[in-house]
Amino acid sequence: MAILEQAANALNDAKTIVCFSGAGISAESGIPTYRDGTTGLWAGHSHQQMETARAFRQNPRLIWGWYLWRRQQAVRAQPNAAHLALSELVRRERPIPIITQNIDDLHERAGSLEVVHLHGSLSSSKCFACHRPALVTPAPIPEEGLLVEPPRCVRCNGKLRPGHVWYGEDLPAGTWKSAVSLVENCDILLSVGTSGVVTPAANLPEIALSAGATVIHVNTDDVGSGAPNELMLIGKATEILPRLCSPLVTEDHA
Ligand code: NAD
Repeated sequence: MAILEQAANALNDAKTIVCFSGAGISAESGIPTYRDGTTGLWAGHSHQQMETARAFRQNPRLIWGWYLWRRQQAVRAQPNAAHLALSELVRRERPIPIITQNIDDLHERAGSLEVVHLHGSLSSSKCFACHRPALVTPAPIPEEGLLVEPPRCVRCNGKLRPGHVWYGEDLPAGTWKSAVSLVENCDILLSVGTSGVVTPAANLPEIALSAGATVIHVNTDDVGSGAPNELMLIGKATEILPRLCSPLVTEDHA
């Protein structure tokens, strides 16, 4: 049996489906993944270096400019066929929950109702000094490659920083717990467009497998671990997900 058909049958039989998504699902909406490298002003700076408190301390104007530019990219981007296919996938008369590492809001804009953002959101900013959320969210900037002085916190005059989770920081309180609980209690984890290198998020497929679920990976690269209850669908999320989540699959068989 073709692997796509096998995956579609597994989805059809499942009572509980959870999706876990990464940057690859938004790539075809024009938001680059972390594997794509940096351009312009940021060429030569790796994402892993820039997404840190250290980088912000050393060069706040560079990091704040990058953040505003990324927000602009996310504002301009539109949900693609993969986001839409997932928003239409229903189980037990409920749309499936989505755990995402993405800091864009394309799942929500595609119509998904339950979205757990492991790494927070590009739409929030907070004070680097007192950590309290910013009261006013700064506007994105239309131009790539600007150095921008971060605005100041109205409470303590500290510099504002992006509100999402940087490397080396803890995930938002309660978020990780919710994600683990969803994954431990699903029949199928549909893992889409993630390289599986950023922990602890990258542990979720392994947690699902250990709890007895089947993991279906959708990725342009082979990211499977070779476990027996894993299916690897290689290709673009926009091409595979609409076929996988066809009308037959969206019927509620619970
Ligand atoms: P990643 O950049 O490490 O990996 C992207 C994965 O997507 C790769 O495995 C790649 O093979 C796959 N991919 C690329 N194009 C694809 C496509 N069209 N269809 C299917 N798969 C495709 O991303 P990650 O695993 O999410 O982890 C890194 C971090 O990236 C996360 O912490 C996340 O916050 C951050 N990030 C988020 C965004 C966003 O919000 N859109 C963008 C860039 C990075």
